[in-house]
Order: sequence, then C-alpha cells, then structure tokens
Amino acid sequence: MKLDAINPEIADYALEMIIVCKDDGSITYTNKKARKELGYGDESEGHNVYSVFPAFLDDTGHPKKMEDLVSDDPKDIIAYRVNKTLFHCRAVVFKSNPGFFVVMGLNISQEEFLKREISNAGEEVQEADKVKTEFVANVTHELRTPVNGILGSTRDLLSVVTDSEQIKKLTLIEKSCENMNNIISSILDFSKLSAGKFTLESREFNFRDMIDYVKESHSSRINEKGLNFFVSISPEVPDVIIGDELRIVQILNNLLSNATKFTSVGKIALEIFKTARVGNKVELFFIVVDSGIGIEKADLSKLFKSFSQVDASISRNFGGTGLGLNITKQLVEMMGGVIECESEKNKGSTFSFSIWVEVPSEEEEEEDDFDDVGEDFEAIEEAEEELPEGNEEEGGIKAFGSEENISEIEKRLSKLILCVEMQNWERAEMFADSVKQLVDNAPKEVRTATLHLKMNVQKENYDKVVEDYGQFLKYLSDYKEG
Ligand code: ADP
Repeated sequence: MKLDAINPEIADYALEMIIVCKDDGSITYTNKKARKELGYGDESEGHNVYSVFPAFLDDTGHPKKMEDLVSDDPKDIIAYRVNKTLFHCRAVVFKSNPGFFVVMGLNISQEEFLKREISNAGEEVQEADKVKTEFVANVTHELRTPVNGILGSTRDLLSVVTDSEQIKKLTLIEKSCENMNNIISSILDFSKLSAGKFTLESREFNFRDMIDYVKESHSSRINEKGLNFFVSISPEVPDVIIGDELRIVQILNNLLSNATKFTSVGKIALEIFKTARVGNKVELFFIVVDSGIGIEKADLSKLFKSFSQVDASISRNFGGTGLGLNITKQLVEMMGGVIECESEKNKGSTFSFSIWVEVPSEEEEEEDDFDDVGEDFEAIEEAEEELPEGNEEEGGIKAFGSEENISEIEKRLSKLILCVEMQNWERAEMFADSVKQLVDNAPKEVRTATLHLKMNVQKENYDKVVEDYGQFLKYLSDYKEG
C-alpha cells in the first residue's frame, strides 16, 4: 500500500485507527478514528508514535526501528492518549511509501474487559462448585452414620421379633434404609466424580464369577416380575481380568436395575463381547437389552445428564435420583470407554458400553487384534442398521451379477463371518437372510451355496459355515472373472 493510496475521506470511515508516521516515529497523518481515540483534536502533527505505543520502545526506553516493528501479525499492546490515559489496542505496523509507516490499531478495551469478567466469573463458579462439592460430600457422609445406626438396630430387632405385623414393619424400615444408603452412595459418588476426587481400583478378579454374582443379584427381582433373563459371555472374553470390579458391578447394577424397573413384559438380556486387544489391554463390550417402556428419541440426549429423569411422571411412579446414568457414564469414561443408548418408545431400550481392562501377563496373547475385531464390531453394528426390511425392493434394485450387487454380497458375507467368529449366531442368521435376498436370480449353484450357508448358520456349525463362506467367495470371484 502506498501512502498516496490512503484516501483521507475513505480512511475517515475506517473503524480502526490509521496512523501514518515517518521512520523517526513522527506522525504525519491520523484518520478521524485515531484522532478521536487519542484525543488529538483536528491536528495530529507534532505527535510521535513512540509516545502513543510504549511497546515500540526497547527495554532501555530507546525507540525500536520502525522497520523492525513491521509484521503481518497484529499485537495486543497499550496505547496512550494525549491526556496520558491508556487503552488496550490490537495493532499492526506495515511499510508504506519509502520512509513512511502505517500503524493500524483497534481499541479492544471492551473485549479485554469482557475477557476479564468471564475469567473472574469462571473462577467464582469453580470456587462455588468446590464449596458445594465439599458440602455435599460432608453431608452425605454425616447422613450415612444415622442411617446405618437405624439399619443395624432394625436388623437386631428382626432377629428377635416374632410377631408378623412387627416383622413386616421392620422389614419396611430395613428396605427404606437400604434405599436411603443407595441414594447417599449415588450422591457421594456424583460429588466425588464432579470434584475429580474419584479414583479407580485395579485388582485381579474372575470376570465370569463377577457376572454370575451380578446375574444372581438381579435374577430374583426379574423373575418375580415374570420376565426372562438371558446372560451370555462370548468365549473370547478372558476369565481373569484386572480392573475395578466393584465399579463394573455398579455400572451393570445400574443398567440392569433400570431395565428391570422399566420393563413389565418380555425379557432382559446382558451380552458381553471382547471387541479389541492392544498388548495386555482388552476392550470389553457390554449390551443390556430390555423390552420395556422405551425412551422417546427427543429424550435420549438428556439421558446421561445429571439429575435428569426423562419424564417427571415416570420418575414419580418409579422413583430414583436421576444420577445413576450420569455416574455410569462417568465411570465408563474413566475406564476408557463410551456408553450409548438406542431406544424405541414402548418397544424397549438397548444400553451398550465399552471399557478397557487389563489381562494378567500369563493370559496375554501374542498379537494385537485391535484392528480386526474392534473395527469389525462397529461394522456389525452399522451393518445391522443397514439390514434390508423386505426383499422385494432389494431384489428389484440389485439384480444378481451387477458390480454393486456383488460388492454388497461380499460386504454382508464378511459381516456374517465376523458374527460367526464372535459366536453371535442370531445376527449371523440375519446376515445370511440378507445375502439370500441378493441372490434371488443368481445361478443355481450360488443359490444352493446360500442355502447351505444359512442352514449351517442355523445349526451353529462353525467349521461348516467357514467352509461354505470360502466356497461362496470362490463362486463370486469365478463369476466376476468369467
Ligand atoms: P434413576 O437413578 O432415577 O433411575 P438414571 O440416571 O438411572 O436415574 O435414569 C434416568 C432416567 O432415564 C430414568 O428416570 C428413566 O426415565 C430413564 N431410563 C433409564 N433407563 C431406562 C430404561 N431401561 N428404560 C426406560 N427408561 C429408562
């Protein structure tokens, strides 16, 4: 930009200050904004940029060369007015005609003020949060003592009382105390988690024993409600793992209690898979399915927020603090995992979460299978959503033999074999069905191969399915080549 390129009339409309000076710093031109900000009146001659911007002086108070101040990068510096008051300014210096420099600056006092306000407010909020968390921790701790006192005395009485009416009342007190203790634990966990004072234990334990314990503790309540309860652990899940057993139990207890609480007909299922392995770390994937009241799509986003119960009338009927899922989410994340929920109103909900645990060195395998199983498991999930609903449309659009058709078959076959590897026969069968829909007008040998595959999947015959799969792929590649 040349000095003579500055049109004073236009420059007077600029929102920034424009100051032109010589290489000795003496000001030769200021636009209207600069004159106003610096308090120069109509004339700016006789002023010097070094007295406006002390940042243009070196440590000893000597002027830096204007040449050295030239930069593309705006700097936040202090600017002095004639009356010696100051303001924060974002300024940039560039060279104009030979021997002339232009300083463009913007008064950012308001921005600085707001920044300070926000930072002060942030500190105040943090301080208030800390006080609140400590208060909650103290109160809940103090509450536990009397509740345990009542609980202990009630149990003592229960062991001596014989009158059935009294036993009924004492049992009610006992149950109420246990509920109260659960609520206190939730609040305590929540306040510790929010204060960052929560640590996980790391101990070796038998995973299947732990799941048996969880199963036993929920079975009676689930059976009482006339529901079916299925628990399945994929064979690849290690027997012994290292992690925080109590907290894993807590996560499962919360999800299973919710599933039981919100389901009145049908089933509750818990499935566990190993989905990845890196060194001695293993990713476990848990799915808790129920056929209960379900959750509206719009409510899914509030599910994991603290104190949130999706529907006030539901919480009145079912009770609860609305902290369970938030605590669960935080625990899952502390264990390096994620938690998700899929649900349909009146059909049921599926909560799934992953966690990373360690395996003892003697259980270590040689190879990492992170890429194989971890990614593929997601692929199964994705693919499941892609599964076609009916075959007319699919068959019509994807006639056998087209490039799109063959690649779709290959894709579904690979998902199928993955489900087989993970012993998920139910899903494998769904993929077999979906492949069948794509070979309606295929040559007889391909249709027969599909039938074989489906039959063997139904029989859960691992070896035969693998063999059929290989055979099928060969047909496809022959077909492509020929
Ligand atoms: P609470 O301790 O009150 O049960 P949670 O955080 O565990 O709180 O659950 C919050 C809310 O999420 C519940 O009040 C309920 O509305 C909804 N919810 C949780 N799990 C389920 C489920 N399996 N089916 C239907 N709704 C559920």
